[in-house]
Amino acid sequence: MSFDVDLFVIGAGSGGVRAARFSAGFGARVAVAESRYLGGTCVNVGCVPKKFLVYGAHFSDDFDVASSFGWTAGKPQFDWATLIANKNREIHRLNEVYRGLLLNSGVALHEGHARLLDAHTVEINGQRISAANILIATGGWPQVPEIPGKEHAITSNEAFFLKQLPRRVLVIGGGYIAVEFASIFHGLGAKTSLLYRGDMFLRGFDQGVREHLNEEFQKKGVDLRFKADVARIDKQADGSLKVTLKDERVLETDCVFYATGRRPMLDNLGLENVNVALDDKGFVKVDEQYRSSEPSILALGDVIGKVQLTPMALAEGMAVARRLFRPEEYHPVDYQLIPTAVFSLPNIGTVGLTEEEARSAGHTVKIFQAKFRPMKLSLGDYHEKTMMKLVVDADSDKVLGCHMVGPDAGEIIQGIAVALRAGATKRVFDETIGIHPTSAEEFVTLRTPLPEKK
Ligand code: NDP
Repeated sequence: MSFDVDLFVIGAGSGGVRAARFSAGFGARVAVAESRYLGGTCVNVGCVPKKFLVYGAHFSDDFDVASSFGWTAGKPQFDWATLIANKNREIHRLNEVYRGLLLNSGVALHEGHARLLDAHTVEINGQRISAANILIATGGWPQVPEIPGKEHAITSNEAFFLKQLPRRVLVIGGGYIAVEFASIFHGLGAKTSLLYRGDMFLRGFDQGVREHLNEEFQKKGVDLRFKADVARIDKQADGSLKVTLKDERVLETDCVFYATGRRPMLDNLGLENVNVALDDKGFVKVDEQYRSSEPSILALGDVIGKVQLTPMALAEGMAVARRLFRPEEYHPVDYQLIPTAVFSLPNIGTVGLTEEEARSAGHTVKIFQAKFRPMKLSLGDYHEKTMMKLVVDADSDKVLGCHMVGPDAGEIIQGIAVALRAGATKRVFDETIGIHPTSAEEFVTLRTPLPEKK
């Protein structure tokens, strides 16, 4: 049977674009459909604009610290509209970069909403295109629980385009997006509260990391409310929002920002016309080679709900392109030792096992930890501390996990991740010469383990 294309990719986000470009590079005839924005979540309403806002938010500290180095300037003023306009301009540039990447690699780009008609046919903009393989790379979408008044809440999708910075913000959730946006809003000057249903935010992260960020948020004056959840939201006559909690307490704010996870984006995709099975959370079920239960349909990235991180979608896109069109170069994606950063203020960087994971996997562990004031803050009266932690297997001396809360944690952990992948032992860390004076050197000068926990 002959098809119009060898691969039809639905979704021009990180994973879809990677799979499309490399497949075309391997000689395949490839088409991509995108209904919203080129570059997907990461470029438009995720990693990239978020990092701009985090940079913006950090200036409030930077201006202050500058005074301890002798600088004086007028009272800093922040203008949200300028930040958003400049961010939008840069994102628009990146959209065009993505367009160029696709077109220059010979991919046919269709801007519109694609629907599956059957296991080999996609309909887009009134046109039917047959494909030997179809890749669903449609990503995710913020999920807000069904509560009365949810229409008054915003999510990260809207936050990037707010007309003005709210005076007061209530962030709901305790994951990546919640702590990052709490830092952004607080740093830019909004009176910020974060409300999380559990005991402590960032479930799944190392307990020491969670506690350290908790302390730093409190020192900065972010209002943290754990073990609390929203029952309803009511808009008041003056436009402010009345938020009633499940325990009947009432809070008042100007903006309720929900960051309670993301669902797979499969709306109106025509799944009823194919045999693509979903898991119990609604994500597309795939095997280790990203094949769905419909043999010609694959899926990757956020829509499979495995690890919702851009670099993983890129790795999955690469694997799909190779398996389909360069099988001799195919190798499966390795989901071990994925480094990650949370761009809260201060940042978190982490790779490998948490202390809790290491212990529950049966390792006898030695914990090496440092907490110190970053050098840049030592000329003034600042109390922010950096935390660094190594989780070491006591028997093999292998470093199992490495965690940091502090400036540039993501930059530092990226390099450490290479060492962990190479199987570095604590001795290798000890024999590595530090770079002085840096924060990162602490990772190679941690000599004494913490006393064993009773
Ligand atoms: P997460 O899954 O990280 O966190 C969701 C949070 O919302 C959790 O704290 C969860 O609580 C809470 N929650 C879930 N459902 C409810 C509910 N019904 N009511 C109240 N609270 C609820 O999701 P995010 O939205 O923060 O981010 C989505 C994903 O995007 C992340 O997991 C991450 O993979 C990715 N991301 C990565 C970034 C990075 O690399 N820097 C930045 C931003 C996002 P509980 O813990 O109790 O389940």
